[in-house]
Amino acid sequence: MSFENIEWIWKNGKIVPWSEATVHVSAHGLHYGSGVFEGIRCYETEAGQPALFRLNEHLERLQSSAAVYNFKIPYSNDQLAEAICELISVNGFKSCYVRPICYLGSASLGLHPGKCPVEVAIMAWSWAAYLGADGLENGIRATVSPWRKFHSSMMPTTAKACGQYLNSILAVSDAFERGFDEGLLLDQNGRLAEGSGENLFVIKDGKVITNKADDSILMGVTRDAAVEIAKALGFAVETKSLELDDLLNADEAFFTGTAAEVTPIRSVDDQTIGEGKRGAITEKIQKTFFDAVSGRDDRFRKWLHPVVRSVTV
Ligand code: PMP
Repeated sequence: MSFENIEWIWKNGKIVPWSEATVHVSAHGLHYGSGVFEGIRCYETEAGQPALFRLNEHLERLQSSAAVYNFKIPYSNDQLAEAICELISVNGFKSCYVRPICYLGSASLGLHPGKCPVEVAIMAWSWAAYLGADGLENGIRATVSPWRKFHSSMMPTTAKACGQYLNSILAVSDAFERGFDEGLLLDQNGRLAEGSGENLFVIKDGKVITNKADDSILMGVTRDAAVEIAKALGFAVETKSLELDDLLNADEAFFTGTAAEVTPIRSVDDQTIGEGKRGAITEKIQKTFFDAVSGRDDRFRKWLHPVVRSVTV
C-alpha cells in the first residue's frame, strides 16, 4: 500500500492538497478513537468508467455507526457520494480504495464529547489485494487469536468505529508475529466471530455457511454480496453460529471484506482446511464477485455506482 499517488483529500466540504489535510493534536478522536469510518472499493469496469461497489450500503452503515455514537454527520449521503466521486476524479484514479472518516475534533478532552465538532474527511488511494495476490489464488494461513472479539454488550459490534479497531490491531499483530497472514477472533463464548478485518464463511457438503449479527461480527457489505452471489449460483446458504470445529472440519473456508474481497483460507494454525488450497465453490463465488465488481455480470450491476467525472480543481 502506498499513499504516494494521493494528491488531493476531501476535508469538511473542500478538496485540499494532501499536505493540508491535517488533524490537531487536541482532537478528541485522536485521544479516544472517537470516530466512525468506512472502506469502499472503486473498480475499473468493462465500460471503462470506474464504479463504486455498493456505495449506498457503505454510506448507510457510516450513518448508522455515527448514530450509535450520537455523532451528527453534517453531510447527507448524496453529498458524501458526490464528494467521493469528485475526489476520485481529481486524483485521476481508475480503481482505488475510499476511506471516509468522521471523527471528533478539538474542543475539550473530557470523555463526554461535549461540543467537539464532527470533522469529515475522505481519502482515496490505490490499494492492491489486502491479503496478497497469492492469498486470493492459493489461500491464506490464519491463526486463532488469543484475543477475543468484544461482545455487543461491551461495544456496538455492528458499528465501524475507530477505537473498536484496537481489538483487531492486537489480533493481526499477534498473527503476524507468529508468522500467519491473518488473525481469527473467537467471541466471548468461544464461538467463531470474524477475522481482524473480514467476515468468515465455511463450506460443508456443498452448503455455504456464515455466522450472524449475534456472533459479535460487523455486518459486512461483502458478506452480504457473497451470500447473494452464492444463492444466485444455486448453493444453499445458511446463517448460524459457528464453532471452531465447524471451520477445522470444513471442506472450504474464505474471508470476505472490502479490502480482502473474497480470500480463501487454506489453513488455520497447523490444520489444513479441505485440500489446503482455494476450494472449487470458493473459486466460483470469488470469480462471480470479481465479475460483479467490474460490471461483467448484469445480475449485479445494481451494486455499481458509476464515478461521474465532472469536476476539476
Ligand atoms: N469485519 C471487520 C472487523 C471489518 O473491519 C470488515 C471490513 N470493513 C469486515 C468485517 C468486512 O466488512 P465489509 O465487507 O463491509 O468491508
